[in-house]
Amino acid sequence: MCTRLPRFTAPMRRHESSITQFVVARAAGPLAAHEKSAYRQGTMLLDATECDMPRMSVRQAPEMLLDGWFARLQRARGALLMLDYDGTLAPFHIDPAQARPYPGIVEILDAIIQESRTRVVLISGRRAGELGALLGLRVRPEIWGAHGWERLLPDGALHIERAPQEALNALLAASKSADRAQDLGARIERKPSSLALHWRGLPPERVPQMRAAVEDDWSALCRRAPVELLEFDGGIELRVTGRTKAHAALTVLRECEQDTPAAFLGDDVTDEDAFAALQGRALTVLVRPELRSTAAQIWLRPPQELSVFLQRWRHARESVDCDGLRS
Ligand SMILES: [Mg+2]
Repeated sequence: MCTRLPRFTAPMRRHESSITQFVVARAAGPLAAHEKSAYRQGTMLLDATECDMPRMSVRQAPEMLLDGWFARLQRARGALLMLDYDGTLAPFHIDPAQARPYPGIVEILDAIIQESRTRVVLISGRRAGELGALLGLRVRPEIWGAHGWERLLPDGALHIERAPQEALNALLAASKSADRAQDLGARIERKPSSLALHWRGLPPERVPQMRAAVEDDWSALCRRAPVELLEFDGGIELRVTGRTKAHAALTVLRECEQDTPAAFLGDDVTDEDAFAALQGRALTVLVRPELRSTAAQIWLRPPQELSVFLQRWRHARESVDCDGLRS
C-alpha cells in the first residue's frame, strides 16, 4: 500500500522562546475535548498545564507569540509570504473556476505586494496559469503550481519540470480507472504530474464507490512507478513523486537572505509536507474552519482571522524604512 499519509510526528521543542518552536492551538477560546485530542494525535498542544512556559491560557498564547512574530517582521529588511490558494485564500467551490478569494483579501494582498517590501509567492496544487485570473491582483506574484512541478514567474516565464517517463506512463494507465469513477459522478483533473479525482459536493454515500473504482489500480501503479496516492480535501490524487509544496517553499526560502522572516499559510493535507519541512525556518499557519491534526504552528479560521493576520502583516511591513529599521 503506497498511500502516503501526512507526517505529523516531527518533535517539537517546548522550552525555547521563538515562535517557530511552539505549536499554537487556536486564536480564540479554549479547546474542546475533541480538539485537544485531535491536536495530540500528532502535534504538541501548547497549554498552560503542559509546558514549562509561564502559565498562560490557550487563548493568550497565540496572541503573545504572534505579537513577537509581527515585531520581528517590523524590524526585518525583507519578508516572505507563501500562500496556498484553494481553501486558504478562497473558499472551495464545486466549480474550481469560480473559486474566488474571500472578500477583502485581494485588496490586502495588493497592498502587501506593492507597499510592504514583502515577496509574495503562491504555492498551489493547481496549474500555475489558473491562479492569476482568479486572484485578480494588480501585480502578479510568483506562482508555483502542480505541487511544485510548475513555476510561473512574475514576468510570465513558466518553468515546468518534466516528470520521468515511467511516471507519466503510470498516469496514462490510471486514466482508465479514472474514467470509471467519472461515470459515477467524480470530476477528473489532469495535470502534468498528477491525476486527481474530485468528489466535493457529491452525496457522501457515493464516495466509497468512486474511490473503489480507482484505488486498487492506482495502488498497484504506485508499486511499479514513481507515483504516490494522496488524499486531499474532497478527493484523491495520483501524483508523481519528487516534487511537493515543501520543495517549492524551501526553494523560495533558500533564495531569500538568511534570517528573512517567512510564513507559509495552507489548509489541506497537501500542505503538511511544507508545514513539516519549514519547522524552525518559517511560521506555519493552518487556515481552516475546523482544526485537525497538523504540523502547523498556528490555526486561523477564515475569513476573519485570516484577514486580521494579513492586515497585521501589511501594517507591520508598512512601518519598515528603507534600511530595514523601524520608522
Ligand atoms: Mg488548499
